[in-house]
Amino acid sequence: MIDFHCHLDLYPDPEGVAREAQAAGIAVLSMTTTPSAFAGTAELGVGRPMIKTALGLHPELAHQRAHELALFDRLVADTRFVGEIGLDGSPRFAATRTSQLDALAHILGSCSDVGGRVLSVHSRGAVRPVLDALRGHPLAGTAVLHWFTGTARQASEAVELGHWFSIGPPMLASMKGRELVARLPRDRLLTETDGPFATNDGRPCTPSDVMVVTEQLARIWQVGVAEAAAQIGKNMSGLLAMGT
Ligand code: MN
Repeated sequence: MIDFHCHLDLYPDPEGVAREAQAAGIAVLSMTTTPSAFAGTAELGVGRPMIKTALGLHPELAHQRAHELALFDRLVADTRFVGEIGLDGSPRFAATRTSQLDALAHILGSCSDVGGRVLSVHSRGAVRPVLDALRGHPLAGTAVLHWFTGTARQASEAVELGHWFSIGPPMLASMKGRELVARLPRDRLLTETDGPFATNDGRPCTPSDVMVVTEQLARIWQVGVAEAAAQIGKNMSGLLAMGT
């Protein structure tokens, strides 16, 4: 099982969640929301080979942490994974739009300079400008659009641009989300939880909730759960073999 987008450092007991995930054999890509959180969060993966850490600057924090972009540039050589990055178009963050765009352009430029990275990308209410930013930085790496809520047409555009998607419990909770997931190419999908932000059955998700996601994908694809899990595992290997 794979949780390609989780915030281990934001749980009340990060060590406990990391230990449980490792014991359950769940591979976790642990996001960070600021470059300064990277070193501490990466320690959760020490001695736990299935836990990898991504270097990020969350769009909701971009306006407060522009000074950490220099740290981002120093750390980006140390990791294959970058996230959480992206843009948030919610009304609450409308005033920070310019700093968000500046930070994302800087990050994508920095990733291009080091030969490309695997990117976990937030695009809530901002699919259009996110796709434009990625199109403008074709050497930044392979983007995995997390918790994608765009239209079917935007999803097709993302696929044409070579992007991937990570699917979590909230996307599968609505009919609209399930219909969108059903249209996505099976070989471009990964599973995620976005815990502890996202919830499942009214409690914060933990990495083990990818089981529920895998079961729902199996239902959508009309295959067995083992086959769905094997598909996601194969996708993960394929993504890692791409060299970014
Ligand atoms: Mn997240």
